[in-house]
Amino acid sequence: KQNGRGAAVTYTPDITVAFEAKKRAVLMIKSAISDGRLEPHYQPIIDLKSQKLRGVEALVRVRNTDGTLSGPADFWPALGEPQCSREIDEVMLELALRDFSLWKLCGLGIEFVSVNASTSCIRSSSYADRVLSKLDEYGLDPSELKIEVVESVFLGSESNDVRAVLERLSAEGVRIALDDFGTGYASLSHLRDYPINCIKIDKSFVSGLGQNGSNTAIVQALIGLGRSMKLEVITEGIETQGQLDFVSALGSDFGQGYLLARPMDAQALAQYATASPLPHPARDERALTAN
Ligand code: C2E
Ligand code: MG
Ligand code: MG
Ligand code: MG
Repeated sequence: KQNGRGAAVTYTPDITVAFEAKKRAVLMIKSAISDGRLEPHYQPIIDLKSQKLRGVEALVRVRNTDGTLSGPADFWPALGEPQCSREIDEVMLELALRDFSLWKLCGLGIEFVSVNASTSCIRSSSYADRVLSKLDEYGLDPSELKIEVVESVFLGSESNDVRAVLERLSAEGVRIALDDFGTGYASLSHLRDYPINCIKIDKSFVSGLGQNGSNTAIVQALIGLGRSMKLEVITEGIETQGQLDFVSALGSDFGQGYLLARPMDAQALAQYATASPLPHPARDERALTAN
């Protein structure tokens, strides 16, 4: 069905393997959701001018029954399954807003929490209402939530519904970020025609900075584009001091990456926010092999 209605595909053993992998991943997520083992981990988003923690991105993790942790790489096919990714996103929204509202009560001074919304979420016309009523339930201001969408939301026949959802959220003050910017199918006109506040420059461009002339040119151009369109720019995947210096000098507003801080559980994040500079090594994700 992925190839369109009525398309014929030749059977190969790979298809069975992929099907089995998807089934396993979906089952893993379903049981994690029903047992309450879905766990958001939070990666700090740092203001590159002040070096301060400004926000966090919620990233989905599964707490396995043996106590170990799995990340998206371990259940990737489930994130590609519309129904399943929608369920993940609903649970993650709930947990992220709950954690954020607690941090707010504790006066941790974190300005926003960012959640990833799969394309199937954004295409559901009731999504905006659900988000807004969750914000209300937790007593949060819409501007405290950022929703990360990927470029594929702009594809397909539902683009009018997508626009309506994004416009509704944006009109209420929710911030919209375009994740993995530059890797998908967005045309620059989408930045103009949809209510996008922020671009996140993908880590695949950042990793080759300095060694690869094209990546350097791309990062430079993307940061420049974001700045001249008055969009907030977040650079992802900063792993070295050289990368940090480069994107800071070019004027990226925010940075996110292992050099600055790894994703960590809610409790560790609260400690990090109070105690900075470094999270407790036992509680962050240095041991998570999937990353
Ligand atoms: P993303 O939204 O672009 O998230 C950033 C990913 O980069 C995270 O991987 C993060 O752990 C990783 N990362 C951060 N800093 C560095 C770095 O310095 N170097 C490297 N190599 N990686 C870094 P993670 O958590 O494995 O998530 C992968 C992807 O899975 C996310 O990419 C996002 O597309 C998806 N995802 C994660 N959580 C959710 C969710 O709740 N809902 C949906 N729909 N998708 C999610
Ligand atoms: Mg993201
Ligand atoms: Mg990204
Ligand atoms: Mg990504």
